[in-house]
Formats: sequence, C-alpha cells, structure tokens
Amino acid sequence: MIHIDRARPDANGQAIRPRDPWTSDAGDATTRALGEGGAHQVEDLYRDPKAKAALEELFHRKCAYCEAPLANATWDVEHFRPKGRVKESQTHPGYYWLAYTWENLYPSCTFCNQKRKDAPTWSDPTTGAAQGKLDQFPLADETQRAVDYHGNLANEQPLMLDPCQAADDPESHFAFDSQGQILARDPADVRARETIRICNLKRRRLRDERAKVLVRVVHMVRVLDLATGSGQLAIVPALQALLGAEVQDSAQYAAVARTVQRDPAAFSGIT
Ligand SMILES: [Zn+2]
Repeated sequence: MIHIDRARPDANGQAIRPRDPWTSDAGDATTRALGEGGAHQVEDLYRDPKAKAALEELFHRKCAYCEAPLANATWDVEHFRPKGRVKESQTHPGYYWLAYTWENLYPSCTFCNQKRKDAPTWSDPTTGAAQGKLDQFPLADETQRAVDYHGNLANEQPLMLDPCQAADDPESHFAFDSQGQILARDPADVRARETIRICNLKRRRLRDERAKVLVRVVHMVRVLDLATGSGQLAIVPALQALLGAEVQDSAQYAAVARTVQRDPAAFSGIT
C-alpha cells in the first residue's frame, strides 16, 4: 500500500474525477439515500464506468490496498466505509450516505476485497484462511462510530490504514522481508496488523510477486553502485532511469521497491 493523493492531476494537469454527469447523478442518489435512510437500496452508480475509469487513473491501475495490477483482472469499486452493513456493529445500517461519495470509493482487487482463501501453490500445498475486507471496518473505539449522516467521521479512528490519508502514511507502517512478505514495521502497530489481516496482504501469490520486484531492485541498486564506484559513468543515467521506473507511484509493488532503495543493505543476503 502506498499513499495516493486524491488531488493529484493527470498528465494534462486535469483533476482526476468521474466525468460528468456522474457527480450530479451521485448527488441525486445521495439525496435519495438520505431520504430513505438505512432502508436505502444502494444503486449501481458507484461502479459506473465513469467512476471506474477515474479510479483506475487515480490509482495507476493498481489495487489501492495491495498494489496488484488491475488491467488483466476483474476488480471491485470498494467502499472504504462499507455501504450496506458493518461487520463490527451488527445493528449498523452501513454508511449508506457515503455510497456515492467519491472520497469513499477505492479500486480493489477481488483478493483484497472479497473473502478468498489463500489457495495452495505448487510449492506450498496448504490452504490459508479465508480473508478479505468486505464489510469490515474496525475502529479503535466503537462508541465513536458514525451511525448516520449526522455522525462526525473525524471522530472515528479507523484501524484500517487509508491510502488516501496523507497522515496515515502507509509506507511508514510496513516492512518487507527478503521473501517479499509484508510485516508491521512495529509489531505492536495495531493499524498495520489490522490492515494486513483485513486485506490478507500476506497471501502467498502476492508475496511471490513482490519478491520478484524486490530481487530486481536489489540487483539494480548493486549494478548502479558498481557503475558509479568503477567510474563507468556513461551508463549511470540509464541505470537510474530503470531504478526510477521501479520506485515511482505507478510501478507495481512500489512500496517494496522503495523499501529496498531506502535500505539496500537490509537485503544483502539476496543473491
Ligand atoms: Zn488488492
């Protein structure tokens, strides 16, 4: 998970939001939701192609939570605050009043968002527990949960890290081992642990994909150091460009690539 600034412009300097008339349609749907309250049946507008195109662009065609590529898979428009029910509060109607709120919509791969088992791999025939976000949204203090649109969301302290909240700074919460597995940087960090649990960020295929990036970046950093140290400066710009492509926000698994770039000595055992 990396931080994504919702205010970031596209390559042409334009704001990245669903194209018209989505925003006015969303306003009308929100008005209906407010009028109907908890009985409101959420409409498909939140996953309209205009919203999906904007989410894809804003999040660099990656899952907001695990950074897996979305291009070759079906993916969900996920509500950070669940729209229809809340697992941790059985009487809660869900954040129906945020069902069409742009800031509550995130692109998520089905593995992070739906309840999926970590299926056996060829090298590891065990089956991991089923996990996925669905309608989970735990808070540090359940008594502060907003139960309707009068509630103050600012009083909620979500345990799930929010990729779009700069203050949450997701990358500061996580570390990666040399196998590409994600860890809470501080084992006592409840928010990091809960985010990993809720989205099943330790699933094995995800770990293995991160490991490929990790190994590639380790070697890039070494070659760059060798070129610099041996005076072969002509190839340094090209190597820097290759490394830069791995660590930019749009790169797959940029968080693990940047972890290696920050502290390559931590991965000195990789051959
Ligand atoms: Zn994901």
